[in-house]
Amino acid sequence: MKNNSVLIIGAGIGGLAVGIRLAAEGFRVRIIEKNMKPGGWLQPTRIGGITFPNAGSLVTMPEQLENLFKATGRTLSDYLTFEELSPIISFIFPEENEYTLYREAADTVMKNSLFGLQDQQGFTAYGKRSDRILDEYLPKFFSKPYRRSRNPFASEFGFRGLRPGRSGRSISERLFTSEELRSVHSFWSMFCGGAPSESSHFYRMIPSVMQRWGVLLAKGGSEALVSALEKLFLECGGEIQYNSEAEAIQVYNGSVTGVRLTDNSIRMADYVISDADTAFTCRSLIDSDRFRYATVEAAQMRKPGISLFIYHMAMHSQPKAKRPLIGFNVIMPPDMKQWEQELFTENRLPAHPLFYLHVPSLIDPSFVPQDKGALSVICPVPNIDSEVNWPQESYRFRDRILTELQQYFDDDLRSRLAGERYITPVMLEERFNSFKGAAWGFDPNQEKTEIPRLPNRCADIENLYLVGNGAHPGPFLPGVLQGAEIVHREIINSRKGN
Ligand SMILES: Cc1cc2nc3c(=O)[nH]c(=O)nc-3n(C[C@H](O)[C@H](O)[C@H](O)COP(=O)(O)OP(=O)(O)OC[C@H]3O[C@@H](n4cnc5c(N)ncnc54)[C@H](O)[C@@H]3O)c2cc1C
Repeated sequence: MKNNSVLIIGAGIGGLAVGIRLAAEGFRVRIIEKNMKPGGWLQPTRIGGITFPNAGSLVTMPEQLENLFKATGRTLSDYLTFEELSPIISFIFPEENEYTLYREAADTVMKNSLFGLQDQQGFTAYGKRSDRILDEYLPKFFSKPYRRSRNPFASEFGFRGLRPGRSGRSISERLFTSEELRSVHSFWSMFCGGAPSESSHFYRMIPSVMQRWGVLLAKGGSEALVSALEKLFLECGGEIQYNSEAEAIQVYNGSVTGVRLTDNSIRMADYVISDADTAFTCRSLIDSDRFRYATVEAAQMRKPGISLFIYHMAMHSQPKAKRPLIGFNVIMPPDMKQWEQELFTENRLPAHPLFYLHVPSLIDPSFVPQDKGALSVICPVPNIDSEVNWPQESYRFRDRILTELQQYFDDDLRSRLAGERYITPVMLEERFNSFKGAAWGFDPNQEKTEIPRLPNRCADIENLYLVGNGAHPGPFLPGVLQGAEIVHREIINSRKGN
C-alpha cells in the first residue's frame, strides 16, 4: 500500500484504538508518547505495593472493545477477563441518606428508601425517556462523523422532540420531589465535567448505558486493559516510541507532512492523528502564525472544562467506615446548588467539596495487600484559569478533604496514613498537556450554543485527524473508542476518494 504512513500523537486509549485498526489494515503506524507508559489517564498511581486507579475503571458498552479485537481477527476474551459490577455507584448525602444505582432498575427502586410513590413514577418516566434518547442518539449522532458547523442538537438531527436544550436539573425538578433524587438525576453531566443546572439532560443516557449493557471491571484494572491494547497494537505491526513528545504538527500547502519532536527530530507521515488534548493540539501543536485555520479558531472559541484534585491515601490498615461503602462512591455536598454556584459560576473551590471516594480494595482485591488499607478522593475543582494558587493551596486543600472525609469514618484517618500523593490541575497540565488542566477537555456547558467537541477530521488541514476527549463524540471509553473507529473509517474513505 502506497502513502500509508501514520503518525499518532499520544498512546492514550484513543491513540491505541485507532492505531490498532489502521495497523491491522496494513498501514505503517507509529505512536509517539511523551510519558514512559501507554494509557494516559488510565495509568494508575502506585504507592508502595498499592494500586490506585485514576480513570477508566468502569467499562461500559463492552461491544466496542469486542469489535476492536474482532477487527484484527482476534477475540477480546483471549486478552482480558471482566467481571460485572453491581451495585454500580453509591451517592452519599449528609444526614445518612444515600442512593445506590444497581444494574436492574427494579433493584434501584426497591433497595433505595428515598423513593416515595410519586418519585417511583418519576423514576419510571425518567428511565423511559432516557432509553429513548439513547436509542436516537447512538445511530443519529454518536456513531456518525460530525462535520457541520451548526450545532446538531438544535434541530437537524431530529432531537427537537427530546429537547436537548433543557438541563438535567430542570428535568429532575419536574420528575422528583426528593431533593436527593433531584441531585442524583441531574448529576450525570458531572461525569464529563458539566454543571447540572446548565448541561443538557441528554447526559441521563449514562445510567441508561450502564443499565442496558452493564458495567464491567477488567481483571487487573484499567492498567490491564491498556496492556492488552498495547500488546494488540504491537502484534498488528505498530510501533510505539515512549518518552517522545511532539512539539509541532508540520503543515505544508494545507496538508500535514509530519511531526517535529521536542528533540528537534522530524517524523514524516502521510497521516497525523492527535490523541493529545484537542485544545492543546490546536492551540500549541498546529503552527497557525501564518495561516488562520478554522480548526484552530474553533478550538480557541471553546472554553476548557473543569479540572480535578486527586488525592490517594495509602494506609497502615483499612479504616472502618461509619456506613457501608462500595468501590465507587460520591460524597455529595450539603447544598448542591450552592456547590455548583461556587465551582462553576464563581470559579473557586467550593466551601464543602463534592468528591468521588474510591475504595481500591473493593474495586479489585489485588490492588491492596490484605494487611494494608487505601482510599482515593477525586474532587472536581476549577481549572487553571481560576485564582487558586495550587502550589500554595494544595496541602491546605488536602487537609480540608481529610477533615470532610473523617466524618464518614470511625477510625482516625490521619494516624493511619502510611503514604499519600496528590495531583493538582497544574500537574495534570504538565503530565498530559491538557489545556488549563481540564479533565474532560472542553466545557460541555457550551452544548446549547455550540457543539463542544471538534470533528474528527480537520476540514482545512488535509490528513490531520483528532481523537479523544475533545473530539467527536466526546469523552469516556465509549466516546473515545467510537471516535477512533470514525477516524479509521474517514481515512479509509478518503483513500477511496469519498
Ligand atoms: C477521574 C476520571 C475518571 C474516569 N473514569 C472513567 C471510567 O470509569 N470509564 C470510562 O469509560 N471513562 C472514564 N473517564 C474518561 C476516560 O478516562 C477518558 O475519556 C479517556 O481516558 C481519554 O483517553 P484519550 O486517549 O483521549 O486521552 P488521554 O488518556 O489523555 O491520552 C492522551 C495521551 O497523549 C499523550 N500526549 C499528550 N501530549 C503529547 C505530545 N505532545 N506528544 C506525545 N504524547 C502526548 C499523553 O501523555 C497521554 O498519554 C474518566 C475520566 C476521569 C478524568
